[in-house]
Amino acid sequence: MAKNKEKAGRVAMPEQPPEVRKRNFDEVPLGYTVAMAQEEAARCIQCKKPGCVTGCPVQVDIPGFIRMVTEGDFTGAIRYIWSQNALPAVCGRVCPQEIQCEGECVLGKKGEPIAIGNLERFCADYEREHGTGALPPQAQSTGKRIAVVGSGPSGLTVAGDLIRKGHDVTVMEAFHKPGGVLAYGIPEFRLPKAIVAQEVNFLERQGVKLECNMVVGRTVTLDELFEQGYDAIYLSVGAGLPRFMNIPGENLIGILSANEYLTRANLMKAYKFPDVDTPIPKGKNVIVLGAGNVAMDSARTAMRLGAETVRIVYRRSREEMPARAAEIHHAEEEGIELFLLSNPVRYLGDDKGRLTGMECLKMELGEPDDSGRRRPVPVKGSEFTLDADLVVVAVGSGANPLLTQSTPDLGLNQWGYILADPQTGKTTKKGVWAGGDIVTGAATVILAMGAGRSAADDIHKYLEWGW
Ligand SMILES: Cc1cc2nc3c(=O)[nH]c(=O)nc-3n(C[C@H](O)[C@H](O)[C@H](O)COP(=O)(O)OP(=O)(O)OC[C@H]3O[C@@H](n4cnc5c(N)ncnc54)[C@H](O)[C@@H]3O)c2cc1C
Ligand code: SF4
Repeated sequence: MAKNKEKAGRVAMPEQPPEVRKRNFDEVPLGYTVAMAQEEAARCIQCKKPGCVTGCPVQVDIPGFIRMVTEGDFTGAIRYIWSQNALPAVCGRVCPQEIQCEGECVLGKKGEPIAIGNLERFCADYEREHGTGALPPQAQSTGKRIAVVGSGPSGLTVAGDLIRKGHDVTVMEAFHKPGGVLAYGIPEFRLPKAIVAQEVNFLERQGVKLECNMVVGRTVTLDELFEQGYDAIYLSVGAGLPRFMNIPGENLIGILSANEYLTRANLMKAYKFPDVDTPIPKGKNVIVLGAGNVAMDSARTAMRLGAETVRIVYRRSREEMPARAAEIHHAEEEGIELFLLSNPVRYLGDDKGRLTGMECLKMELGEPDDSGRRRPVPVKGSEFTLDADLVVVAVGSGANPLLTQSTPDLGLNQWGYILADPQTGKTTKKGVWAGGDIVTGAATVILAMGAGRSAADDIHKYLEWGW
C-alpha cells in the first residue's frame, strides 16, 4: 500500500494558462476540488514520526489535518489548523513549502511529496466558501489593553492570539489598509486581497480594533501609548525600507524601487488606472534587478501591465536565486527572461533625463563569500547594454526606521533592527515586545507569524502574572 502511494504522483492544481494569465491580475492557481483534495490527502501514509511537521517552522500537525481531509471532515480540518496557524489561506498560497514541510515529506525521497500547501489552501478556501463563519471561543475579558504596531502577518497573529485570551487589542497601521506585505507587496495574482481582507475581518469580528493611517513614532510615541493606558505593546513594523544599487544614473526618470512599484500596483490598485487615482509607469522594455520573490512579483506585474520585454538581471546563477522555485517557473512560463551572472554597472539616459537602458557586466562565480554562496566576480571587457524604459530595483530592503528613530530607549542592532529575545520577543524596553521582519530582517510570512505566536504567549504571561 505504502509503496503504491510513493509511486502515485501528486494531484496537480489547475491553473490559468500562461498566455492568458500574463495579461490579467487574477489568481494563477485555481484551487483543488473536493475530489482532488481527497485524492491527494489519501496519498499521505500518516508517518509515526512525520518529517513534514519537523520541517514546518510552527510545527502544524500536518498528518492530523490531512487525515480529516481524507475523512471529508473539512470543518474539523480547518479548525484544527487554526489552532496552530492563524492564516492558513495565506500560508497555503505563499509559504516556501518546497524547503519546509514538503521538503521533509518522506514521499519526496522516491517520488513526489504530498502537496501540503495545496491541501492547507483547500481547507481554508472550503471554509470561506461553505463554512458557518463561527468564531473561536474567547476567554473572559481581562481589562488589559495591548497596542499592536503594524498589521502584517506578525501583528495579525499577535492580535488574534491575545483577543482570544480575553485582552483588549488595538492594531495600529501606517497605511490606509491593513495586511502589511500581504496587502501592499504580494500581488493579487498570488494572493487575492479579498482573502487578506477576510482574515482581517475575522479578527475584527472577534473584537480586535483597527486604527489605520496611524504612524506610530510620528502620530503617537510608545511612551504616549503607555500614558493612554496600554499595558503592553507589540512592534511588528516590518523591513520595508527600499535599497538601491548606488550606481551612476540612479536619478533618471524610469527607475523605481520594487516597494513603490508593488505598493502602487497592489495597495493602490494602479493596474485599474484611470478607474482608480493612482498611476503607474507602464514600461515597454522593463528590467528588474534582483532574484528574490520581490523581483519575481515585480517582473510578473510588469508583464501584466503590458510590457513587451521583461528581463530579470541577477549577478549570481540560477542555483543562488532566492525566489521560490514555483515563482521562477511561473515567471519563465509567462515569458520573463533571466539574465543571470550579469551585474548592472550604470543606467543610461537621454538628454531629457529619461532612462533608455542599462550597461551590465558579465560575471563568473569565484570562492564562497560570508553567506556561503560563491562570490560573483566581474569578467573583464564583458560589458553589454540592454534597452529599458523602466527599471524596478528589487535588491533587498532594510529596517523601517520611522518608529525606532523616535524611541531612543529601544535597543537596536548595527543594521537598525530591533533587539528582541528570540524565544519571547521581549525588547530592551519594559512592556514592549517585537517580532517579524523588524527583528530578523526580511524573512518569510510563517517566521513572522511564529515570532508573533511566541510573543503573544509571553505578553499573556506578563499581563496575567507581571513577568
Ligand atoms: C513583494 C514581496 C513578496 C514576498 N513573497 C513572500 C512569499 O511568497 N512567501 C513568504 O513567506 N514571504 C514572502 N515575503 C516576505 C514576507 O511578506 C515578510 O517576511 C512578512 O510579511 C513580514 O511580516 P511582518 O508582519 O514582520 O511585517 P510586514 O508584513 O512588513 O508588515 C509591517 C506593517 O507595519 C506597518 N508599519 C511600518 N511602520 C509603522 C509605524 N511606524 N506605525 C504603524 N505601522 C507601521 C507597515 O505599513 C506594514 O503594514 C515577500 C515580501 C515581499 C515584499
Ligand atoms: S511526511 Fe509526508 S507522508 Fe508522512 S505524514 Fe507528513 S505529509 Fe504525510
